[in-house]
Amino acid sequence: MTKNQFTIVTLFPNAFNDFMQTSIVKRAISKKQINIDIVDIRTFADNNHQQIDDAPYGGGSGMVLQALPVIKTINSIKTAHPTAQVILLSPQGQQWNHQLAYSYSQKDINYILVCGHYEGIDERIMPYIDAEVSIGDYVLTGGELPAMVIIDSITRLIPGVIVTDSHLNDSFNNSLLDYPTYTRPEVVLGMKVPAILTSGHHEKIAQYRHQQALLNTYKKRKDLLKKYPLSVKDKQIIEEYKLSIKKSRRKEQ
Ligand code: SAM
Repeated sequence: MTKNQFTIVTLFPNAFNDFMQTSIVKRAISKKQINIDIVDIRTFADNNHQQIDDAPYGGGSGMVLQALPVIKTINSIKTAHPTAQVILLSPQGQQWNHQLAYSYSQKDINYILVCGHYEGIDERIMPYIDAEVSIGDYVLTGGELPAMVIIDSITRLIPGVIVTDSHLNDSFNNSLLDYPTYTRPEVVLGMKVPAILTSGHHEKIAQYRHQQALLNTYKKRKDLLKKYPLSVKDKQIIEEYKLSIKKSRRKEQ
């Protein structure tokens, strides 16, 4: 049995069907590199209508997910997975990023992901929550998409899930964005692949890709470069790029 376990607490189990049957996540499940269980909060409703939401105390619009069905769901999962860490998906949580995904992938992977809905969940679930995670400063309808984002980003970092080399170059590893990639055909609508990539010269290709990753980061996410240890050569590449931009602007004037 795999030891990398995700358990999703949700009102919408079907939302995960395609996610679990697609691409790398599907392969990781079938190779038993991860296991995903889904638990429907409604199973723990304490009434015949399976109602699990109610109006907010103090008034206001929308409905609130009740605390007890969620707490009961978490507790029942904890009997099978006593050491699992409970993560609440919430726009108020710590913002998810590559570094966090990496650190979560290096711990014992046994996470219970609690997806809220409506106006959110009754605050009294908080003593049962170990971490609150947001996938960005915007509000989604439910925690299902964030749960998929978290599981996907952790899964691809689990050793053996994808070819190591391919994710080492991914954006945000080493604080650099990825370099541009190309595939066949060599010419698309008159646009040629950079000649170096068809040269077969591995060392020069590696240098070129590093240079492109550096310039990509400089052009799109300068803030990331603050964390990157620029070599003398790297600084020179950026200065040359700045100079080339100045020159082309002068030509345009
Ligand atoms: N009223 C809540 C607030 O402003 O904090 C938002 C509730 S939202 C409509 C419903 C659920 O979607 C949340 O309980 C949470 O589980 C999930 N959600 C929405 N946006 C999210 C985000 N950016 N990151 C993580 N989860 C999010």
